[in-house]
Amino acid sequence: MKIRSTIQKMTPYVAGERRPGAIKLASNENPLGPSPLAMKAAADAIQEMHIYPDGALTELRQAIATARNVTPDMVLPGNGSDEVLTMIGGAFFNPGDRVLIGAHTFSQYAFAARLFDARIQTVSMPDLRLTPRAILDAARTGDPARTSGPGAPVNPVKAIFICTPNNPTGLAFTMDELVEVLDGVPADTLVVVDHAYQEYAARTGTTAVADASRLINRYPNLIALHTFSKIYGLAANRVGYGLAAPQLITDINRVRLPFNVNSVGQTAAIAALNDTDFVHKSLEVNAAGKKRMQRLLTELGFTWLPTEANFICLDARMDAQKAADIVAQHGVTVRALTSFGLPRHLRITIGTDSQIDILEQGLQALAERAPVVR
Ligand SMILES: *Cc1c(COP(=O)(O)O)cnc(C)c1O
Repeated sequence: MKIRSTIQKMTPYVAGERRPGAIKLASNENPLGPSPLAMKAAADAIQEMHIYPDGALTELRQAIATARNVTPDMVLPGNGSDEVLTMIGGAFFNPGDRVLIGAHTFSQYAFAARLFDARIQTVSMPDLRLTPRAILDAARTGDPARTSGPGAPVNPVKAIFICTPNNPTGLAFTMDELVEVLDGVPADTLVVVDHAYQEYAARTGTTAVADASRLINRYPNLIALHTFSKIYGLAANRVGYGLAAPQLITDINRVRLPFNVNSVGQTAAIAALNDTDFVHKSLEVNAAGKKRMQRLLTELGFTWLPTEANFICLDARMDAQKAADIVAQHGVTVRALTSFGLPRHLRITIGTDSQIDILEQGLQALAERAPVVR
């Protein structure tokens, strides 16, 4: 049987490492566990596990709409926001369509593009920063594979993926920067903004969830992705969603599988949205852990990026996988960023105080093995 040639070239997703007995700071999960209200609701939902879930996702869409100040027809839940990404590809990408993706970012944008034979144009990220200028330049320059010679028609960009705060750097776009991109592209270029870590973004002026919703009313080509996997602590339940203008949601909904979000996930997500105490506690723990980890990294001589999320990206000063192994030997798994095009960088989820106590030993061991070059 002959596999499609683009699929043949695809490599399986590299997940954060799990080691029995080790603390996992490799996948940016909530170190406090699931929202307690969500756990209770999920336990109740298990009683009805023999019944198909609500295929129309009515209550979940209503709950998200209320929380995000939009209408339910602007909400599209998925089996994690990962699934929303592939639904976007399925609804919109024709073979050969050009999509723009940052050089160092989450792998699932490229996955969604390849799955539907779209062509990826990588946007460079000097100093690990994605800028509106770089995106718009790449969009205007055209597709190197398609255009030939001056005056040749430029193949328009079908979609642009922007992760803010970005996984794995933690750096965020400001509202103004996002608007600059939206204003600089044609109305038929889809702008996908991945807000998986938006709840953690503290700096004023970074795109806020509510602002993104307001933006949706202005830009019918914008879709914002959110997830219950991070601050709500429900990564295993697989619930995420897209927010966009009703027409965009209607179009994407055509490729949604009938029961894409399971009933335990639906119920848990609704409860988690109402668990504001848990969200606040998560933000506090993250802010304190961030300060402590940044101080620790500085003391050990590592350079790191000023994160707006629940993880820190640092230069390990040696091969990333070797560095991750050293830290793992001390009981904490972290993410080597080789597959993100950063062969010397690590991404470490911000943990609780007791987790950082243990991480500290691993980082000390790493610092000894990776002497500072001054
Ligand atoms: C974790 C993460 C997600 C969430 O994916 P789910 O499928 O909702 O679990 C989305 N985007 C980015 C950049 C992430 O890091």
